[in-house]
Amino acid sequence: ESFDIRQLAEEVIDQFENKAEKKDIELKISKHAPEQAMVYADWQRINQVVTNLVSNAIKYSNKNGKVTIDFEVTNSHVITRVKDTGEGIPPEHIKRIFERFYRVDKSRSREKGGTGLGLAIVKHIMEVHKSKVEVTSEPGKGSVFSFKLPKKAPEQVSGE
Ligand code: ATP
Ligand code: MG
Repeated sequence: ESFDIRQLAEEVIDQFENKAEKKDIELKISKHAPEQAMVYADWQRINQVVTNLVSNAIKYSNKNGKVTIDFEVTNSHVITRVKDTGEGIPPEHIKRIFERFYRVDKSRSREKGGTGLGLAIVKHIMEVHKSKVEVTSEPGKGSVFSFKLPKKAPEQVSGE
């Protein structure tokens, strides 16, 4: 199905408004983001992806942090980025965070709650969409998680 991923992101933001407010985190869509970004994907699954990424961005950010969602529209695709100003991920852990139950800081993660499944689910969903999730991170500065979705169904790309 086709849907506007900006609108989906706005709904996820509404869902997390309270959690963000409690930590004084500014949760928003980038002011540079396009007004609309249509993608061809499974709405429910992509809702899960954005939910898991925003959940992490808030969970692993300190008070007064910023979580920003942005979209880049190319000829054929939309790249969605969830950016945080949180604790970041040490390079030696980056490769493993998409594994089931893997958590960077076991003792601290226990305090924060969760099972370590969020990113494994994200990875699986992006595989189902024949795409992938990517991450860049700088410890102490923050992280950016991004994923790419097609604007149109495969058969539409090459015309009728
Ligand atoms: P769950 O999602 O099941 O509630 P979780 O958040 O610990 O638990 P994942 O979402 O899979 O599990 O994330 C795995 C680990 O990757 C986290 O425990 C954390 O160490 C690290 N991580 C994920 N997202 C971020 C982020 N935005 N900033 C810093 N570290 C992160
Ligand atoms: Mg998580």
